[in-house]
Amino acid sequence: MSIAQNDRAAWLRGPAATCSTPPAKLEKPWRIVLLGAPGVGKGTQAQLLMQNLKACHLSTGDVFRAAKSLGDKALTPAMNVAVACMKAGRLVPDVTVLDVVRERVGCLKCEGGFILDGFPRTVLQAEALEQIMREQGLVLDAVLDFVLPIDQIVARLSGRRTCSNCKAVYHVTGRPPKVENVCDACGKALFQREDDRPESIRIRMQAYEESTSPLTRFYKARQLLLSIEATGSPEEICDRAMAALEAARAQRA
Ligand code: AMP
Repeated sequence: MSIAQNDRAAWLRGPAATCSTPPAKLEKPWRIVLLGAPGVGKGTQAQLLMQNLKACHLSTGDVFRAAKSLGDKALTPAMNVAVACMKAGRLVPDVTVLDVVRERVGCLKCEGGFILDGFPRTVLQAEALEQIMREQGLVLDAVLDFVLPIDQIVARLSGRRTCSNCKAVYHVTGRPPKVENVCDACGKALFQREDDRPESIRIRMQAYEESTSPLTRFYKARQLLLSIEATGSPEEICDRAMAALEAARAQRA
């Protein structure tokens, strides 16, 4: 079974769950963070990088969306607050996000490595990640920052469709599924995320500017930041990212 079919159960549902196909132990696992404004194509890149690097795609947004699908009654009060924030396009409070990540530290320690997407999103979260990794004896290899002009971002977001089951990401014109509104990978229905509605997009862009773009300075200062131009096809962008990662690793060796 290919790694793309890993259900990431331990990440999505918490440590009590077991992944269907845990990534294999790698000699040099990649542990990386993805940055980039909403709509820059990070989710698509995460899927492509997952296949190239054989590391799991760990998205905090997916954790909150999985919680949302369980319904209010099955959730802790903190998770209910998180879901409400997500629906409104606001950032979930740092303390809740960090509880969620700390509970899932097993996924960070996984010997297949990780591709963190959507976390960290604030400097406080980045400092906490640094601390968690230090405690676990883990080292972050790189931070990929995907960069794209704002008008192209808006066009990408409004056409984005996500699989209701496996979370694969498509675009109505840029990356259409073979059959309209049906996932190529698992055959389930595609949907438009609630937080991709115009009013949520505006708030998310503002939150990104205020809270997340300072992270580029944070990681630049640690010499981990690799800026990747996010234009061209998803495969071209991924090739650019892979080349940057390999060059960074070679430089450090
Ligand atoms: P994403 O799929 O990464 O765009 O996340 C969707 C939504 O989940 C965001 O708009 C936030 O409401 C919430 N979220 C996900 N990750 C975080 C995080 N690290 N910090 C705060 N809120 C988050």
